[in-house]
Amino acid sequence: MTEKTHAIIAGAGIGGLTAALALARAGFRVSMLERAALIDDVGAGLQLSANATCILRDLGLLERLWRVALSPEVLHVRRASDGTELMRMPFGALAETRWGAPHLVVHRADLQRLLLEEAARSPDITVETNTEILGFTTLTGGIQVGATQGGEQVRYDGHLLIGADGLRSTVRERLGLGLGDQPVYSGRSAWRALLPAQDAPAFALMLASNLWLGPRAHLVHYPLRGGDVVNIVAIVEDKWRGDDDRQFWQTEGDAQFVQDRFAHWHADAQALIGAVKEWRRWPLFDRNTVDRWALDRVVLLGDAAHPVLPFLAQGAALAIEDAAEIGRMASQHGSNIGALVRAYQARRIRRAADVLLASRRQGSIYHMAKPLSLARDLVMRRLTVDAAMARMDWLYGYRG
Ligand SMILES: Cc1cc2nc3c(=O)[nH]c(=O)nc-3n(C[C@H](O)[C@H](O)[C@H](O)COP(=O)(O)OP(=O)(O)OC[C@H]3O[C@@H](n4cnc5c(N)ncnc54)[C@H](O)[C@@H]3O)c2cc1C
Repeated sequence: MTEKTHAIIAGAGIGGLTAALALARAGFRVSMLERAALIDDVGAGLQLSANATCILRDLGLLERLWRVALSPEVLHVRRASDGTELMRMPFGALAETRWGAPHLVVHRADLQRLLLEEAARSPDITVETNTEILGFTTLTGGIQVGATQGGEQVRYDGHLLIGADGLRSTVRERLGLGLGDQPVYSGRSAWRALLPAQDAPAFALMLASNLWLGPRAHLVHYPLRGGDVVNIVAIVEDKWRGDDDRQFWQTEGDAQFVQDRFAHWHADAQALIGAVKEWRRWPLFDRNTVDRWALDRVVLLGDAAHPVLPFLAQGAALAIEDAAEIGRMASQHGSNIGALVRAYQARRIRRAADVLLASRRQGSIYHMAKPLSLARDLVMRRLTVDAAMARMDWLYGYRG
């Protein structure tokens, strides 16, 4: 029996886990190395558009995803000052027909758990937690990866290394790509909360995604986890200066700050924000695109390659698209790692740059103040449902 091609993946986030499943399907053996001691309940809501859910369907996960996800029927866009509806875009069945797969919302931890359970069912995938990749050496015919595991130095030998290790990727840095292009604070923070349904105003419990646009801020909310909680994200421009931005997810937010910041918004938005007792502040980082993600036997994937600002809600979706592509290229090129790596990079780099730049533009549009916001609102109000959906075809209808 011939030995299977062995891929080592740094990071068991959404991107790394999906890549492991796609590679196992393509006949590879996969070792996943995850720095965290436990893959636990961190994060909050993620929107998964059709470009991502069609891939999860291909991996046989859609039925189980439906058990932990919700499908908002519509996206409501409202003006912050007076609640005027600027745009309404149907999701639900209409979106599924148009883009070929459902538009879902799910808690990041629930999706990660589902992927992990599927990985555990595969004899070709192993997941090592508490294992931090430190570096790698490319050899003739293979790659050697150095890591620490519970304080001990360990070594892994494989044929391909995938850096799916997130925004501050060690693999990217070791590739020499992270040098002049560190992530920079974008001047905006996301304040996030999961509000128990019993504390939420009734309008926030409807099966809808909601987007409120105000000057230098916007607000997103939708029900999550079977409607037991409302996921809320309030994004504001600020001058945050943190000492330790690595632990940002643990940074506790200040409820009074958020209430003050949204004090002039419509009463519904204020009622929702006022009901939240515990916020988490999440500074948003931006990073320029690079024109190379790969070298020899090493490739980057997901946030490690292309962190995107969350204005189009595409961080997880892009990582899932990358993962599907690496699986496709593995099926095509097998143990010819050089060809696999080159083809993957060529097929993904443009798409990721397009989404990254569009996300930046969307942020500026969302945060417009008068008079520009008046023109924006006019354009939005005139959009027909079909025109509104057509604007998303390139994003949600993408199929690699
Ligand atoms: C804790 C957390 C919470 C998040 N919550 C949300 C959210 O609520 N909503 C949202 O839209 N997006 C969230 N994101 C971002 C979103 O999940 C990502 O944009 C998207 O899923 C891309 O995922 P990724 O797999 O590329 O990277 P990530 O999800 O960042 O995963 C990277 C993984 O690599 C591991 N890692 C890092 N360095 C090393 C190393 N040297 N060796 C081994 N492992 C390493 C990390 O522990 C992590 O598990 C969150 C990310 C994190 C890490």
